[in-house]
Amino acid sequence: MTELARDIVERLKVAAGPAGWSEDPDEIAPHLIEWRARWHGKTSLLLKPDATDQVAHIAQICNETRTPLVPQGGNTGLVGGQIPASGEVLLSLVRMNRIRRVSPEENLIIAEAGVVLATAQSAASEARRLLPLSLAAEGSCTIGGNISTNAGGVHVLRYGMMRDLVLGLEVVLANGNVLNLMKGLRKDNTGYDLKQLFVGAEGTLGVITAAMLKLVPQPSSYVTAIASLRNVAAALPILNDLQGATGGQVSAFELIQRRALDLVLREIPGTANPLAGEFEWALLIEVSNSAVLDATEATELVLSQAIERAAIGDAVFAKTLRERESLWRLRETIPEAQRKQGVSISNDISVPLARLAEFIDLAETEVHKLLPQAFCITFGHAGDGNLHFAILAPDHEPILTNLRSEIENAVQECVWRLDGSVSAEHGIGIAKREALRRQKSVQEIETMAALKRALDPNNILNPGKLLPAGLT
Ligand SMILES: Cc1cc2nc3c(=O)[nH]c(=O)nc-3n(C[C@H](O)[C@H](O)[C@H](O)COP(=O)(O)OP(=O)(O)OC[C@H]3O[C@@H](n4cnc5c(N)ncnc54)[C@H](O)[C@@H]3O)c2cc1C
Repeated sequence: MTELARDIVERLKVAAGPAGWSEDPDEIAPHLIEWRARWHGKTSLLLKPDATDQVAHIAQICNETRTPLVPQGGNTGLVGGQIPASGEVLLSLVRMNRIRRVSPEENLIIAEAGVVLATAQSAASEARRLLPLSLAAEGSCTIGGNISTNAGGVHVLRYGMMRDLVLGLEVVLANGNVLNLMKGLRKDNTGYDLKQLFVGAEGTLGVITAAMLKLVPQPSSYVTAIASLRNVAAALPILNDLQGATGGQVSAFELIQRRALDLVLREIPGTANPLAGEFEWALLIEVSNSAVLDATEATELVLSQAIERAAIGDAVFAKTLRERESLWRLRETIPEAQRKQGVSISNDISVPLARLAEFIDLAETEVHKLLPQAFCITFGHAGDGNLHFAILAPDHEPILTNLRSEIENAVQECVWRLDGSVSAEHGIGIAKREALRRQKSVQEIETMAALKRALDPNNILNPGKLLPAGLT
């Protein structure tokens, strides 16, 4: 992209308001690098409006002058979608951070796009409700980013992905029109459900400025347990038994490979292995207690039956809130411990539930054919068939870096052989644009491109992301 014309920059600055822009490289710098430091962006202009009409005015100027724009929330995305890779104007939504309304009666919250997820969770909690989206980046990621990536996290099993929580949206279109989809009706069969188009669109179809989200009753308490597992195949029957015994109250079912746990124990201060004996795999389980269910009894019963048939070796229940937090720390800090190892190749995949073990065996074998010294770690949301499969080679980083695309391709081939998805929750961004050609049919991709052309004919919104090259 050529340098931004000065007159356009001045118009955009006026549209964003006096406190709504920056040309200071030091202020802009943190917005240009992401969590894994894989993509480095560049831009001379950061816009940070704090009102919907400002966003609308910015989009209208960009559309008229064919100036590309990259929306950004908390910059925790893992596929580079929020990075202005070619000098685009960067539109940060973080100043749009007001909670407009919390209604415990209607079980909903209306939050602006830049509200940090943890802030929205707290607002719901103050109203004695639960906003049931939880992920390790919740202290930084924003509601707009969560919707644009259709975020998942640890409670998808019980409450669904972000898509399932969106009751309404306010969106600024590429031409600057504001689409108000905030009726919030739980039932409304009057044609296309437009709000769903923007969920998971990664900022390519519109800029989300506010959202109405579903809240659910707060569980009265949680039963949290960690258990060592005989093998991955033993996990699914335990999940089904637990769902049966608790009437579908399982809110998390996380698989942790011993190697991932060992990284946490080594890298994260204050962590300890609660389990006795030798094991290769562990399960972190959480069941919500409601007024009518003794989830502790039900969970204990299922896990003791699993111990009797040797599917589980040892199990430890959290007895206090502090113990619950310690168990979750073993899971939540895996990405941090992994990052401390240096370069890694991370894959966020899903396969049919019954094929989890098959995927791990196949993928490890294929990776070792390319790099025998590689060290694979697997963890993730087993209850959703979603695994994070990472490849490290601490003593052979230059080789790992050189082999990145071959290794990524090999893992993706394994996913496709097992009818899975190469992006279960992190999205496409820059990272997986070309893989989309194999992931989706020609007809699906053509329909996506037609939508993009209809809503953003001048291709100003996050160009070069999501759709494969040549289609935007
Ligand atoms: C430690 C860690 C753990 C994570 N765990 C999970 C997990 O368990 N599950 C999961 O799903 N993800 C996870 N992620 C990925 C990430 O947190 C999510 O994708 C999150 O939803 C991104 O929110 P954000 O505000 O940071 O968005 P950003 O990173 O700023 O942007 C992400 C995408 O959304 C677009 N976008 C942002 N805001 C808007 C807007 N208002 N309108 C239109 N487009 C917009 C951007 O252009 C970009 O394409 C994790 C990330 C980290 C670093």
